Amino acid sequence: MQKKSKESESVKVCIRCRPLSTGEMNAGHTVVVEIKNTGEIFVKRPFTDEPPKQFTFDAAFDWNNSQQQIYENTSAQIISNVLEGYNGTIFAYGQTGTGKTHTMAGVEDDHKQRGIIPRAFEDVFKGVQSDSVKTQFLIRASYLEIYNEECRDLLSKNPKKKLDLHEKPDSGVYVKDLSYFAVKDVSEIREVMNIGQKNRSVRETMMNAASSRSHSLFTITVERSEIGADGKPHIRVGKLNMVDLAGSERLSKTGAVGDGAKEAAKINLSLSTLCHVISALTDPKATYIPYRESKLTRLLQDSLGGNTKTVMIANVGPADYNYDETLNTLRYASRAKNIQNKPRINEDPKDALLREYQDEVQKLRQQLAAI
Ligand code: ADP
Ligand code: MG
Repeated sequence: MQKKSKESESVKVCIRCRPLSTGEMNAGHTVVVEIKNTGEIFVKRPFTDEPPKQFTFDAAFDWNNSQQQIYENTSAQIISNVLEGYNGTIFAYGQTGTGKTHTMAGVEDDHKQRGIIPRAFEDVFKGVQSDSVKTQFLIRASYLEIYNEECRDLLSKNPKKKLDLHEKPDSGVYVKDLSYFAVKDVSEIREVMNIGQKNRSVRETMMNAASSRSHSLFTITVERSEIGADGKPHIRVGKLNMVDLAGSERLSKTGAVGDGAKEAAKINLSLSTLCHVISALTDPKATYIPYRESKLTRLLQDSLGGNTKTVMIANVGPADYNYDETLNTLRYASRAKNIQNKPRINEDPKDALLREYQDEVQKLRQQLAAI
């Protein structure tokens, strides 16, 4: 169990409930979820007179809230923190079909319906442009997927290559050989995202898999260099992780057998370990946090109980037949509220790329001066 301290802040947990779909309406399903703008959510067990179960979160949104409102109230602050040199993580959790991908990516060719990721792109580059001309920025993007406890590079030409996780004492867990692209504007980073999404669907077809069973992680790293009071350049590095998790529904519902069941168990390993990590971090008796037991939790280690500013968006469906899964999601989300992080600005990290570039330029200058 973690202790609260002055520098610590809780993981921010927000709920989003999608509208009843046309199919659900036609099938006669009813809405059992009610959301108040105070962050409260009420869920009523169908066909009973039980009083509704109540949960309270940092914020709760329903089908009346737009993509713009979701972005502003859950994520915009984190993007500006990342530009200051903090790490930030935004992740969508919930049952398949509840709107995780709608929330994170949204609809690409419908401006109003674009999700958090494309809006984050815009704010990152707005922030960069509005800053002093003396500040140098280097922005790069990477995109990976965890499927079946295998980590794959969505920007690599070789979609079959598995990647390993390694750890550095100062900067923590990283993905070895993960490719990245330096990007200079919104259109370039969008292109990177599109390449990744294309690779993702090619891989899905190749492996006969569904995106609802894999976890995807889009990362933007922002390095900024400014001249300090000492006249020397100082570099701050902020990393923004945007995660669309696999569906959290339990195995029994998917009806998987044979290979399907084995695969589901492995997929569940990352998600179930995520739940174990959340439980352990918020359990006063827990002595061990099982980060190392899955790829996902290793990669998100800093986001849960670490140095990152983290927002969890828990997506739920409104319909009666989703009651059990909705409650499950809300219970986990409730626990996550108690996770304490200690965000800090990453100053002058050894592996900053900008430093390498600056050193290179410095060397060239010296060579020129010597001619
Ligand atoms: P998930 O990624 O959790 O499996 P999706 O994002 O694919 O779920 O959403 C499932 C369906 O519901 C999609 O057709 C999506 O367009 C729709 N949907 C999800 N959330 C909303 C919302 N807030 N408003 C309108 N439609 C939504
Ligand atoms: Mg999805």
